[in-house]
Amino acid sequence: MRRLHTATLLAAAPTLTLAASCTLLVPPKLGAQTDPSRPPLHLTYFGAAGWEISDGTVTVLVDPYISRLKYGGGGDPADDRPDFARTDLAWSDTILIDSIISEANFILVHHGHFDHLGDVPYIAKKTGAKVIGTETSMTILRAYGVPEAQLYAVRGGEDYQFDGFSVRVVPTLHSALGEKHYYDARRWTADSDLTAPLRINEFIEGGSLSFLARFAGHDVLTMGSMNFIEREFEGLEPDVLLAGINGSRLGLYEYDARLLRTTGYPPIVIPTHWDNFRLPYGFSQKPNYERNIVPFIQTVHELSPDTRVIAPTHLEPIVIK
Ligand SMILES: [Zn+2]
Repeated sequence: MRRLHTATLLAAAPTLTLAASCTLLVPPKLGAQTDPSRPPLHLTYFGAAGWEISDGTVTVLVDPYISRLKYGGGGDPADDRPDFARTDLAWSDTILIDSIISEANFILVHHGHFDHLGDVPYIAKKTGAKVIGTETSMTILRAYGVPEAQLYAVRGGEDYQFDGFSVRVVPTLHSALGEKHYYDARRWTADSDLTAPLRINEFIEGGSLSFLARFAGHDVLTMGSMNFIEREFEGLEPDVLLAGINGSRLGLYEYDARLLRTTGYPPIVIPTHWDNFRLPYGFSQKPNYERNIVPFIQTVHELSPDTRVIAPTHLEPIVIK
């Protein structure tokens, strides 16, 4: 699975020695992606930080937020759907969800905000999937009546083996929203008095996680925010990185460079949480694409020329061989 260390690589492939000593700033990448027998990985972007990922045997949903409610401003005047306030009761577009999601074995939840967890109560009950997330997220799901047997509360550091799938839970940080003034230490616990349906603003963060999701032949490192803890990402070396790249990352010190270096310059990087999730599917994402993805592709090209950036389109499957 793992990429070879540079020393091993040079011993095995002497023709690379000259290039490595002259111009290579980035360790060459070989390993899992050279295994011709591994099954292809299918990824579908739901928008926000949402994904469906499948190796043909195990289907994992990540922050599956489909409803894309119009709430909290930042939408588009052409969107004539009803406007939700953060104090309004949460609502899921179950017809739309049913048209997109049919089955799942696992649901990984990065944190409890509505654009991550909002549709999980319905999807968890519909699919019977095992859900892995913080105690806050599990408490919210419990309030919605998701069966206890499906709930796996974690804090980060766990490394769980399931049938045909394993996942390492990685502690991380939420995006530095509000020009870095965002900070929310609130948590929901077993003592919290929650009654469903919750209000949108009762979907609190509750701490943030990333996941190293290990599929047959592919390790995917997921992000639900534009932030991370370097020492927690060190040594993970995913072959696919779902990189959070919305605008707040620009307020962090050398975010793109640190992210690529710490994760071992992944062969494939796919931007996530870059769109305007308050707009329905079908609305143009051109402004967000140009603001977030275009400069990110350029930066990755400069920092890690061998990395392939795949810009995802809503609901269009990506296949990684
Ligand atoms: Zn959030």
